[in-house]
Amino acid sequence: MPESLSSFDFFAPAQIVFGWGRVGEIGPVARSLGRRAFLVSGSTTLERNGVLQAIEASLEQAGLSATRLATISREPQVADVDETARRLCGHGLTGEEVVIALGGGSAIDLAKAVAAMATNGRQASVRDFLEGVGAGRTMSEPPLPVVAIPTTAGTGSEATKNAVISSVDPPFKKSLRSALMVPRAVVIDPELTVSLPASVTAFTGMDAITQLIESYLSRRARPIPRALALEGLSAALPAIARAVENPGDRDARARMAYAALLSGLALANSGLGLAHGVAAALGMHGSVPHGLACAVMLPAALRANRDVRRADLARLGTLLGTVPSDSDEVAAGRFIDSIDALARRIGIPARLSAIGVQRSDLPALVRASRGSSMDGNPRQLDDEELGGLLEAML
Ligand SMILES: [Zn+2]
Repeated sequence: MPESLSSFDFFAPAQIVFGWGRVGEIGPVARSLGRRAFLVSGSTTLERNGVLQAIEASLEQAGLSATRLATISREPQVADVDETARRLCGHGLTGEEVVIALGGGSAIDLAKAVAAMATNGRQASVRDFLEGVGAGRTMSEPPLPVVAIPTTAGTGSEATKNAVISSVDPPFKKSLRSALMVPRAVVIDPELTVSLPASVTAFTGMDAITQLIESYLSRRARPIPRALALEGLSAALPAIARAVENPGDRDARARMAYAALLSGLALANSGLGLAHGVAAALGMHGSVPHGLACAVMLPAALRANRDVRRADLARLGTLLGTVPSDSDEVAAGRFIDSIDALARRIGIPARLSAIGVQRSDLPALVRASRGSSMDGNPRQLDDEELGGLLEAML
């Protein structure tokens, strides 16, 4: 039980289907939401290895029509959303559409944004709805229902209420956010993650771990997501190195897929913190992969919050099996050191220079780090302190 129970809301997908081989159940799951399936998928590997075709077969067997709408292998941009939503609407909306998202965070985010814009964005660009850069428009209509099938174990986008959309000119990376955007159903099949390369396993896995820790410590942390974060971390912390080092370790793969889902549920309801604030800036300025950016920033973010979250960090340390020590101060430090060591073990660099950041980039990075993630950080850092923190990591 948390120390105090005040009021809270909790949003989550209505149906979560988890287990080995269960992607084969996509047909009946989607059938409960519509009759015309539109697929948004990630890398072309999904077509080469037959996953996409198996999903189409399951949909058709359940009586749905299946149309491939888009394939995306990088983070979605404003034009991708606008163009794909236009194409979807071109098929004519009859109220029986369901959008199937198959891929990593990019494909799922594109699908969620397209589903939202199909019903809300007539004669408008998704940009008008984005936080911070748009015309401040808000969603009034429920999006088309989305079924998310993650193929990486990391972003948790299958359970969140936002989609991250970027733009090159002008450069920004912002969220389209509404409680209406939580996918209606999620199918998580760890089998889909077994073929992921070690680097993707490491980056996406560290993204999930960062999301679990930052949502647990967040200024906006709530009781249900806090409980989920503890559960997710106890699944992921002993498993991530095994999944990276031995891709066929089924227990480790299942744990990471489960932890990623819980990280999405936790962050959608509690917010994040400093590591995610800076990761958004790194993704925009240097195109650093999101999970890698989070992983590089996590130890420094924890050290920056150590004094105001000692007891929480000490509690997280018990998940690593550390013997309860005589003081929270010592236990918190030990937990942060073990996160640092874990990141090094799976090949995450410690320094920003190793991911291409130069001293001259710092002022822009500090400016671009401000946003909803940074607002959740337990301790407020002014620009000077954040700049100093980043400089020390060069
Ligand atoms: Zn993340």
